[in-house]
Parts: sequence; structure tokens; C-alpha cells
Amino acid sequence: MKALIKGSAGPGLVLADVPDPTPRDDEVLIRVRRAGVCGTDVHIYEWDDWARRRVKPPIVVGHEFAGDVVRVGSLVTDVKVGDRVTAEGHIVDGRCLLCRTGNAHVCPYTKIIGVDRDGCFAEFIVMPATNVWHLDDKISYDIGGIHDPMGNAFHTALTADIPGAYVLITGCGPIGIFAAGICKAAGAARVIASDVNDRRLALAAAMGADEVVHPDKAEEAVRRATDGLGVDVVLEMSGVPAAIHQALALVRVGGRVQMLGIPTTAVPIDFATEVIFKGLTLYGVVGRRMYDTWIQMTRFLRSGAFDPSPVITHRFPLDAVDEAMRVIRSGEAGKVIFEIA
Ligand code: NAD
Ligand code: ZN
Repeated sequence: MKALIKGSAGPGLVLADVPDPTPRDDEVLIRVRRAGVCGTDVHIYEWDDWARRRVKPPIVVGHEFAGDVVRVGSLVTDVKVGDRVTAEGHIVDGRCLLCRTGNAHVCPYTKIIGVDRDGCFAEFIVMPATNVWHLDDKISYDIGGIHDPMGNAFHTALTADIPGAYVLITGCGPIGIFAAGICKAAGAARVIASDVNDRRLALAAAMGADEVVHPDKAEEAVRRATDGLGVDVVLEMSGVPAAIHQALALVRVGGRVQMLGIPTTAVPIDFATEVIFKGLTLYGVVGRRMYDTWIQMTRFLRSGAFDPSPVITHRFPLDAVDEAMRVIRSGEAGKVIFEIA
């Protein structure tokens, strides 16, 4: 099959012919139709410090996808050939304390497709049947292919108390843009979204954010909307130190900050004034809750209250990987997807 691989330690990805993968007895083989491109793929493409430490070439890259099941292992009972599916890309051991207490999203034995084992920028991928998620007939492969990052947004938003809340979203990358629509659909009283990038602010507004602002105007917007009190919830979706400090500053006393964005360096925090005496609750987001987040995501999509399609701005074939990476790095894109079949 054709696959985008990291063939050796160094920058870039190459489209190569590799052997078709074979499912084990408890796995299924999926023909990939759409695959989303994510910041993680950019790190692997660039071969930065994180990628160098974590990724062992040769490996097929990519972890967001949707497609059709074309073969099932002999032990698989609930997935059939022809099923339209996406999948949870975090493969957990299912046996540790975290998995057995309903916290598999933080399983210490997690293996991520496209990072720790072969991924989805390919004609076919094998997945454990337990990770497969069926798509409703009405859900397109495009939307199926972005369930992973959309799930990050659902997890971040819906583990906070959103109905009736004043919400600030710092960072309108694809995940922040999804979150604006999710918070509105979940009944937020007002959603303010900040970013330095006007294109992305426009997408957040299109998804339903009530007010979109540059970071230097966020304080004023929050003060005006909340009579000076601060927002009930901040979704920190940038990973940028200035935005993290702003999140802690603009949340109200006793409020909650949902930490999704991943800073690339240590961020000094004055815990006494920024967190403790404000009585804040901080929540670190990892992936998607298995499978609460998936159930919520499917039901929101089914209800029609949340439509993520405007977030997809660019589509490429696999052999245009360099252009896809360029578009993402330029900041001109919402969600970028590969059209594979
Ligand atoms: P992204 O990294 O493209 O989005 C970040 C956005 O923040 C950009 O649009 C950028 O312009 C904006 N920004 C920069 N400075 C800002 C500031 N001072 N105030 C407000 N916004 C600012 O894309 P993404 O894919 O949406 O990911 C968001 C973050 O979440 C990233 O840090 C990513 O690494 C992280 N992430 C975390 C998880 C998890 O499980 N915790 C999963 C996926 C992604
Ligand atoms: Zn586990």
C-alpha cells in the first residue's frame, strides 16, 4: 500500500510503498478514506526534540482518520466488514489501575497510532476492535476523520460546568474553534474567544463565539461581560505562556481552568496569587475520555446542535504532504485533511 512514512531520523515525510498491514485476531483492517493532519504530525515532520525522543522510524504517521472496515480478526464480534468507522487512536492496556477505574485516557501504558505504532496516513490501518467507533450514516468521512481533535475539544469543554457559564477560550487553533461551537451548543451564556490570528478568530465566530478578540483586548471583553468578576470557565487551548497567565488572571475567584494547550517549555506560575488565593480548580486534559467523550460527541452531532464542517478549510492528497504542512505552519488553515480514498 501507499503510506506516508517517517523512514529515517530526520526532517520530512515520504510517500512509500509498504506492505499491507495484517490484523491480529482481535484487530480489524480499515481502508482509510480521510485523515486529519495535526500539530503532532508537524512535530514529527519537522523532527523536533520531542519527536526525536519519542518516535522510532520507520513508522507510518497520522492518528486522525475515518474509513471502512475491510477485514476482521477471528475474535472480533461487534465490528463487521463494510462498517463505516473512526477510532480512538490511544491504545491502552485495559488492565492497569487507571483503565480499571474509568480513567483509561491517562493509562500509563498508552500507545498512540502514528507515534508509537503505525498510523493512518496510508491506504490501510489495523486497529484493535475495542478502539473502533462506528459512524452514523449521516456523518461524513470528513467529519469522521476529525473525531480525534474534536474529541479533545469535547473533553475539555464538557468536563467543566458549561450551561449558563461565561466562558473564555484562549487559542483558536482547530481545537479552540471546535470548542466555541461546543460551548454554545452546551448552553454557555457567553463565549469569548481570543487569538492573535484574525482568520482563526473569524472561524471561531462562524462556529458561534459571541465575541472574538485579540489577547490584548481579552481583559476588557471579560470585564465588560462579567461586571468585572471574571469568567466562570477558561478553556486554555494555546499552550502559550502569556495565554496561560491570562487564563489564570481572567477566570473568576473559585473558577475553573481547563488546560489543553501544551507549552513547549516550563512556565513559571506564582501559585500563591495566580491559583491558591483565587481558589481555582485546574484540570489537565489528556486525549478523550474513553468512552464518555465519544458518546457525548456522537450525540451532539446527532442532535444537529453542533456542526464542525466549517472548521475544515483545506484538503490534499497524500503526495501533497509538504504543501499540507506549509499551510498548517502558515496559520492560514483551520483543519487540514488528507483525502485518501
Ligand atoms: P494550534 O496549536 O494551532 O492552536 C494554538 C492557537 O493559539 C493558534 O491559533 C495561535 O495563534 C494561538 N495563540 C498564540 N498566542 C496566543 C495568545 N497569547 N492568546 C491566545 N491565543 C494565542 O492548534 P490546536 O491543534 O488547536 O491545538 C491547541 C493546543 O492543544 C496545542 O498546544 C496542542 O499541542 C494542544 N493539544 C493538546 C492535546 C491534549 O490531549 N492535551 C491534544 C491535542 C492538542
Ligand atoms: Zn491502562
